[in-house]
Amino acid sequence: MRRPLDYVIVGAGMFGSVFARRAAEAGRNVLVIDRRSHIAGNCYSEPVSGIEVHRYGPHIFHTNSPRVWEFLSRFTEFNHYRHRGLVRYDQRLFSFPINLCTLHQLWGVKTPAEAQAKLDSVRQPHAAADNVRDWVVSQVGEELYDIFVRGYTTKQWGRDPAELPAAIVRRIPIRWTWNDFYFDDAFQGIPVGGYTRMFENLLDHDLIRVETDVDFFAYRKELAKVAALTVYTGKIDEYFDYRFGELEYRSLRFETKSLTGDFQGAAIVNYGAADVPYTRVVEHKHFALQTCEPTVITYEYPQKYTAGSEAYYPVRDERNAAIYERYRKLSDAAPVLFGGRLGTYQYYDMHQVAGQALAMADRLFEARSEVRRAA
Ligand code: FAD
Repeated sequence: MRRPLDYVIVGAGMFGSVFARRAAEAGRNVLVIDRRSHIAGNCYSEPVSGIEVHRYGPHIFHTNSPRVWEFLSRFTEFNHYRHRGLVRYDQRLFSFPINLCTLHQLWGVKTPAEAQAKLDSVRQPHAAADNVRDWVVSQVGEELYDIFVRGYTTKQWGRDPAELPAAIVRRIPIRWTWNDFYFDDAFQGIPVGGYTRMFENLLDHDLIRVETDVDFFAYRKELAKVAALTVYTGKIDEYFDYRFGELEYRSLRFETKSLTGDFQGAAIVNYGAADVPYTRVVEHKHFALQTCEPTVITYEYPQKYTAGSEAYYPVRDERNAAIYERYRKLSDAAPVLFGGRLGTYQYYDMHQVAGQALAMADRLFEARSEVRRAA
């Protein structure tokens, strides 16, 4: 007979899978459920014509945490992919985040001093600068604002930057060097064989059972009885039946095509112009450093989030932060642990979610073994 369950984990994404593994390795018996038909959450990838396609948007792993890197490296080898950001605006391409390559492409400047002098001449200081548009223009001028911020932000968040509070853009990172890598992190790469294989390995343990196509809300009462504790990584407002109102999210629509050849010579090209309806085009084979003839590309279209669509990005403005805070207080008293991007309503990258899951596991399992050791 199977041992009784210690945990039901709702969501087989990064949080749920990392937590499940740590729990199993601490001797806990866990059931992981996911309402989707597959594991790996938004990191899910699957092969198309021999190319691993990131189904929920492009995922690049990067971290400065040796612990997170070493933990995940037990379940995958990472390749040496290093991301370089590219922004297409009208017929031109620019390096991003802004660095000397970008400013050379735009203005022909060749040294940090030339670049700084040119930037000083285009800044348009604004007395108030309390919205994103005015603030960015006051920092880098109209031309850089148009290329990198105006269209992209309008498409991504469905709002004109002039209507967004300046406080959401804490700083505009400008590198005064020719370093055009997107991330500075010490550890970076893409799982060899794909993200899904890494998750299969994470969840491959005698004390972990996984069931997909299972919605927590369809079995809520039954699940509460079968395990001592629930770990929940879905939407926190949905968990509490939206009693304080719905939190806002942004959604995405993906359009994927199979072609031959090399479409754009890079894994991701962002599109800055407002009249191009998509925000980026992903060419998946470049993540795996493949040079094969077939290619698969995905156009990414930001969308309004509506019931039934996927909630990708929390909209962390003042109103939503206040609503979330009410749910968070309620969650402190609930017999459930909340984690991950939707469970804590935070725009987290993968390494942050993995770190959050490891920290929660430390608190639960190491604290108890300390108690046991002391007793
Ligand atoms: P998820 O991956 O969303 O997993 C939660 C799971 O819970 C889902 O599978 C969902 O189906 C399931 N679930 C929800 N409700 C229920 C329910 N009621 N019953 C059963 N199951 C349920 N991070 C990076 O580090 N680098 C990147 O390049 C990067 N790019 C990204 C691009 C896009 C387009 C997006 C959207 C995110 C990106 N991220 C990136 C962030 C990354 O996807 C997240 O940090 C990470 O996947 C979050 O893991 P999670 O477990 O919190 O959530």
